[in-house]
Amino acid sequence: MKKIYGIIGDPIAHSLSPVMHNAVFEKLGLDAIYLAFRVSKDELGDAIRGAKSLGISGLSVTIPLKEKALSFVDAEEVAKKIGAINTIDFSSGTPVAYNTDGIGSLRVLKETVSEIKGKKVLILGAGGAAKAISFYLDAEGARVTIANRTKERAALLASNLRNANSIGLDTDTLTKRIEDSDILINATSVGMHPHEDATLVNADMMHPDLVVFDVVYNPMETKLLKEAKRAGVKKIVDGVKMLVYQGAASFRIWTKEEPPIDVMEKAVRDVLIQD
Ligand code: NAP
Repeated sequence: MKKIYGIIGDPIAHSLSPVMHNAVFEKLGLDAIYLAFRVSKDELGDAIRGAKSLGISGLSVTIPLKEKALSFVDAEEVAKKIGAINTIDFSSGTPVAYNTDGIGSLRVLKETVSEIKGKKVLILGAGGAAKAISFYLDAEGARVTIANRTKERAALLASNLRNANSIGLDTDTLTKRIEDSDILINATSVGMHPHEDATLVNADMMHPDLVVFDVVYNPMETKLLKEAKRAGVKKIVDGVKMLVYQGAASFRIWTKEEPPIDVMEKAVRDVLIQD
């Protein structure tokens, strides 16, 4: 019987996960389909229980449900520590949840820099993406600084990490910290479609040896990345690879098969290029 997978979130119409996962099902010849379901926070419990009853094999979970979903599933320890999930597997009968966002971001950074340990990393944001990314970087021995609009969230996130601190988002503070950073990660939604001209950091705040990684993938080249180019930054990374790597990690959990990364990446970039 055809296996059904999907993504739940709100809004969900523009999610690229269906095109990414369906491309892999087709490539591997798996009798499976991946669909998008719009689910509000209020309906989340019913949706997860309903998915289990309907025999759905696996779900991705996205904004704004990643944190609340923890209440309705058994989650692996790492996801509990992060405080958010993005993947539910129903294969054991009970819903078991994981967070593959941090795994995806770590793989991207390991491909970009030779060593994470000891690197000074400035993460903009303290939401779901920032929590997952900072958890893995901190565990790898990076020296993480969290900068967030709501300072209290930044302070709380930093206090849950082993070797991290927090700052506000004002330009002077950010500029000084960037001067002394090896890696800058935008893990806020600033710059995301339709607010494509927005950025928290401009070219004159960056230096060429900084690695600049934007988790936002729509548009592929955000204003932040354009500014990084203007500053002569040599290592610039867009959010597509992270999307693909977190999706690949979820795919392995659900199917125990190795997905073709190139097929996933092409499927996503083809859609984004057309936009
Ligand atoms: P979230 O939990 O809602 O957090 C949003 C973050 O952005 C918060 O830190 C928020 O600050 C900050 N923010 C929002 N608007 C801002 C503004 N105008 N100025 C300054 N800060 C602002 O969202 P999320 O799940 O972390 O997702 C964040 C982004 O990452 C989204 O664009 C999402 O698509 C992307 N993402 C990409 C991947 C990938 O695989 N590439 C994976 C996950 C997420 P406050 O705390 O002050 O509200």
